[in-house]
Amino acid sequence: MASQKDENIQVVGHERFGFDSRAETKTLRSLYLSPSANKDLDANSQNQEYGSQSTYDKASNTVKYTTLANFPPVRLLPNSERKRILVTGGAGFVGSHLVDRLMLLGHEVTVLDNFFTGSRTTVSHWVGHPNFELVRHDVVEPFLIEVDQIYHLACPASPPHYQYNAVKTLKTSFQGTLNMLGLAKRTKARFLISSTSEVYGDPEEHPQREDYWGHVNCIGPRACYDEGKRVAESLTYGYSRQDGVEVRVARIFNTFGPRMNPYDGRVVSNFIIQALKGEDMTVYGDGSQTRSFQYVHDLVDGLILLMNSDEERPVNLGNQDEFTILEFAEAVRDIVEKVQKEKGNPLAKRVNIIHKEIPQDDPQRRRPDTTRAKETLQWQPQWSVRQGVEEMVRYYYTQIEEKKL
Ligand code: NAD
Ligand code: UDP
Ligand code: UDP
Repeated sequence: MASQKDENIQVVGHERFGFDSRAETKTLRSLYLSPSANKDLDANSQNQEYGSQSTYDKASNTVKYTTLANFPPVRLLPNSERKRILVTGGAGFVGSHLVDRLMLLGHEVTVLDNFFTGSRTTVSHWVGHPNFELVRHDVVEPFLIEVDQIYHLACPASPPHYQYNAVKTLKTSFQGTLNMLGLAKRTKARFLISSTSEVYGDPEEHPQREDYWGHVNCIGPRACYDEGKRVAESLTYGYSRQDGVEVRVARIFNTFGPRMNPYDGRVVSNFIIQALKGEDMTVYGDGSQTRSFQYVHDLVDGLILLMNSDEERPVNLGNQDEFTILEFAEAVRDIVEKVQKEKGNPLAKRVNIIHKEIPQDDPQRRRPDTTRAKETLQWQPQWSVRQGVEEMVRYYYTQIEEKKL
């Protein structure tokens, strides 16, 4: 897991295609790291007071929430540049980071979410801001609003969650996407859907390019998600061809970062939580299956670039560094040990890596070919997996310390 470049990344985002998405990393960090953890990383941080405030009192076992009157400064955009942006699934892991960025950039953001896997706390630091609105709504039902851009992310993304109610996942993918496309058609908004590498299934081509049609079991346990996203893409291009809706399709590969639901069963959160709690790390199968992991800030960069570019074809967004799951488990264990030591709280003994049964239809290999994103968006990941995992370990470490986990 040699990192590409391990210096501190101070700014994320780009100014391209008439849309400036740049933001300081320390400002973004102040929105998800608690003040104490943030101070460790940035002693001069002026932004600490913006993070959500909850204080745990050990003696009474109570938690005190403070309503924030103070919002992080957002850019002042002229009316001609300020967009009305709808983010469905905006209270989820990826959505909340996208919302942070769009808000800091000075846009008007409406989050639509049914809180199935997302949580109000991921965006609570914006509630009350005049540019922000949070709506509890299920995309399966029609929705009326006037907007310029729609980022359609609403859909559970982790295998345990999307398999929990397979029929609902299919309805969300089909009916939910249909409704949001109907909304885009009526308002003439540009529409971006967060599709997935799962449209390639258990791929027979490696790495996966956008013109590969995939290898999906349409009746297996992953079908509700894989086929749901495939039909969502078909609908998207149907509305583009028939109704002239401006569409963008992001095929997202495994992504991780702070605010990932710690109990949603995905591999990065599972491994970090297990290692931090001193529990056995669970590798499914022999761990020879591979994945490529991208850090969430890189994905947000890519989504914003894609939305504002002219690229109508599907675009893979992912990191090209490929790991076997066993290698990844070992790397996460090392990083957790390093952070524990830094905090003066080393684990008594190394955690074990154990093996469990591999789930049915688990893809054997996955790595994006990101040539198209490089050529048409001039996008490529800037966070190494190691840098990203370290950020996420610090985030969960503080959450555990503050009894939020
Ligand atoms: P997440 O589960 O954290 O977020 C999904 C959000 O959608 C949640 O807030 C959830 O409450 C909401 N939602 C689900 N069903 C809904 C419905 N019917 N109506 C309204 N809201 C609903 O997952 P995430 O990782 O943030 O994923 C976001 C999007 O990105 C998803 O579309 C997912 O398919 C896609 N994606 C994510 C990854 C990844 O690795 N994180 C990879 C590929 C694709
Ligand atoms: N829709 C929506 N909001 C809108 C416009 C449409 O939720 O602002 C829904 C609408 O209820 C329908 C779907 O989007 O179920 C598709 O709309 P479209 O106009 O394409 O189809 P039609 O209503 O003609 O069947
Ligand atoms: N995995 C694992 N241990 C876990 C969770 C997942 O070994 O505790 C494996 C899983 O079998 C898969 C890979 O890690 O091969 C990625 O799993 P995840 O659910 O994160 O995403 P996806 O399978 O959708 O890529």
